[in-house]
Order: sequence, then C-alpha cells, then structure tokens
Amino acid sequence: MKTPKVGFVSLGCPKALVDSERILTQLKTEGYQVASDYDGADLVVVNTCGFIESAVQESLDAIGEAMSENGRVIVTGCLGKDEDKIRQMHPNVLKVTGAAAYQDVMEAVHEYVPAPPKHNPFIDLVPEQGVRLTPKHYAYLKISEGCNHRCTFCIIPSMRGDLVSRPVGKVLDEAAALKRAGVKEILVISQDTSAYGVDTKYKLDFWNGQPVKTKFYDMCEALGQLGIWVRLHYVYPYPHVDAAIDLMAQGKILPYLDIPFQHASPRILKLMKRPAHSENTLERLKLWREKCPELVIRSTFVVGFPGETEEDFQILLEWLKEAQLDRVGCFTYSPVEGATANDLPDHVPEEIKQERYERFMEVQQAISAAKLQKRIGQKMTVLVDSLEEEFPVAVARSYADAPEIDGNVFVEDIDKSVIKAGDLLEVEITDADEYDLFAKLIQIKSA
Ligand code: SF4
Repeated sequence: MKTPKVGFVSLGCPKALVDSERILTQLKTEGYQVASDYDGADLVVVNTCGFIESAVQESLDAIGEAMSENGRVIVTGCLGKDEDKIRQMHPNVLKVTGAAAYQDVMEAVHEYVPAPPKHNPFIDLVPEQGVRLTPKHYAYLKISEGCNHRCTFCIIPSMRGDLVSRPVGKVLDEAAALKRAGVKEILVISQDTSAYGVDTKYKLDFWNGQPVKTKFYDMCEALGQLGIWVRLHYVYPYPHVDAAIDLMAQGKILPYLDIPFQHASPRILKLMKRPAHSENTLERLKLWREKCPELVIRSTFVVGFPGETEEDFQILLEWLKEAQLDRVGCFTYSPVEGATANDLPDHVPEEIKQERYERFMEVQQAISAAKLQKRIGQKMTVLVDSLEEEFPVAVARSYADAPEIDGNVFVEDIDKSVIKAGDLLEVEITDADEYDLFAKLIQIKSA
C-alpha cells in the first residue's frame, strides 16, 4: 500500500504556525508523508487565519485554490469558527475544524485518508523537537492558548476561547528539545504571555526533578537556564513583569519585550478594553530602563479607532515621543466581523485614519533612525538568518530584532565559505538607516 500523502497550507500569525507544526508532527508520527504539491496529495489541510478582513479573504482564496487544484480539503484554524462563511463559498470542503483543534483535524484525516497500516514509529523517526516550519536556528514556543481579555477590536477569544496555559514542565521539555536540536533562539508566544499560568492558579509542576510553578516569572527563569536566546512576545505592562526585567539585566533572557500597547489615550484604551489600560506605562518603561538600560521595546498601535479624536491622537503622538520605543508597527483601524468595536459610535473616516497613520509613522521613523544611529561604533552579537545570494553579506539580527517583524543587521564583506545561517557573530556596527544596521565582522562566536 502506498504511503498516504497530505498537503498542507499554513496561513496566519506565529501562533497559527505553531498549530501547523503540531499537526504536521502528528501526521509524520503516524506515518503520513507531507506532499510538496497539490497533485501528489491525497487531501490538503488548510490552516486559516480570521483575524482581519484581508486575512479572511486570503484564507478563503487559499481554500478555493486547494479545492480547484486538489478537491479534497480539510479546513482548520481561526476562520474555522465561521463554518457557514466557509461553506457559503466552498460548500464541498470535507471538514471544518476550529483553531488548535489538533485532534479534530487528525480524526478528519483518518476518516478520509486512513493511516498507513504498517507504520513503525521506531523506524519512521520524527525529530524529537517535532516538525518545524521555521529555519533550524530559531523556533516559536507556544506557552498557552486563548485569552481572558475582551479587547473590543478582537475576536480571538471567541475563536480560541479563554486562556489555557500549558503545564510548565511540558513547555520547558519542549524548549530543551529545541536546544538539543540546534535551535539558538526561542521566541515565546501566546495571546498574553504575562498572564501565563493564571488559569492554573500557578500550578506547581516538575522539570528535571525540580519544582517549577506554571507562572510567567518562573518559566522565564527556567528558560534562562538553557543558555540560548529567549525572546518574549505579547507581554503586557503589569507590575509583575518588573521581575523579568531583572533576568534581562542579568543576561539570562534577551532584554527585549514585545508589548502591543495599541494606543496611549486613556479614553481610547478604555474603549478598546485593553489589558493594563490603567497602568502608568511611561513610569513603568522608565523603571524598566533604569533596571536594564539596554532593554529594547517593540510595539504595535492602531490609529483611527472608533471615537478617536484629534486630541486622543495628539496624546498618542506625545506619548510616543516620550516613550522612545525602539521598534513600532502601526495599523489603521479596520473593522473585524463580530468585534464589538464595530458598534461603537463615531467611526473615523478613511482619509483621516490614513493621515494619522502617516503622521504617526513620521514621528516613529525619526525616533527609530536616531536610536539606530546611536548603535554606530557599538559591538554586538548577531545571529545569522541567511546569506545574500549575490553579495558577500550575511543577513543577521541582534537581540534587538525579532525575525520577520523587526529590522536586520547586514554584516558586510564576509567569507561565505565559513559563515552560515545559525552562526553567532561578534560584529561592529558601521552604519544605520531608519530600520536596519550595517556591520563588519569581528569574529565568529559560535558556529
Ligand atoms: S489581549 Fe486583547 S487583542 Fe490580545 S488576544 Fe486577548 S482580546 Fe485579543
């Protein structure tokens, strides 16, 4: 009997990517092969995103393509919550399951393409760290599912449910396996990393024979013992995060925090129902920088939220100038079907949203450029992501840059026969533009 093959299309954010990795790992563990094209696949799984309208459209298009190229399609992921919408456009998909519904996806695969009868898990080896869709040297580590907040612009809790934290022993086992597999950088992800363990009442677990609490700080401390880069995403500026800054100052985890502030006007934050909206975030940032001067903060913002006045926007601009964040993304508000913010009064006209976006980016670009200029002459450790094809240049990142979303450090005039992706280099920064740095090699730190 020939080995059944499953095609896979993965869309969406890093959290969805981790779901895809988990399903692919399970498929391989059970002896399925992953098909590299639609033609060779017995069926296709499409892991969708439903976060904003453009993502919904992209997901529906991907399902349509898989249907016309293959015809046997299982849909999973965030958009799976809206089965009616999927079936209206694609009535003949085999099955629709929701986000992180690994078991449901596997059951559907079993139903339509039975598992190979003679699969032997001791012969068909799956790597200990599972199947990964990221380059070998970095990996996302998902610590929880769902979210207890109810931000008015977001439908994730309705798609993924309330917070469910993974036991800390499992999280740390996975992190250790990643390290053994050669991963140099772990990116901790969730919907709210600072809330880790709240749902379990910080349950005590064990790792390497030691008791560890399922709690934000305890997890960070244990991850810091691995001796590889640990980067925290989706953290909120709560007082209990202060202790993790000490770990950063001690060099245990990267002095980098991804905090989606989204706005700074207290009125808008309240309308958004943002976590920690009543915290004095500028004070907190000051405190953190005193503890750990090299701390880099990245964030995202939304301009043109319903009810945002010019005064609210000015508060945001002033806050931005004061906060001096290192890396910033900005979006104009776009309504998401099912989000309660849609019912708020005073929606902002598109041209005003656009105009505010441009003013926002102008302010932030100047901050970012000035911050990067200050790096010139500094020595930094960078992790190589790739080598440029045509030039003797390594595309790398320092502790200040997360993959995909931040800038790069371009290390010039290197010998491509001795440097490869995954190497850690010591470099000296020679130049900077608004988003990227340029550097010369001092030495290879670890290959
Ligand atoms: S914190 Fe808010 S924006 Fe983030 S997932 Fe939870 S509800 Fe959505």
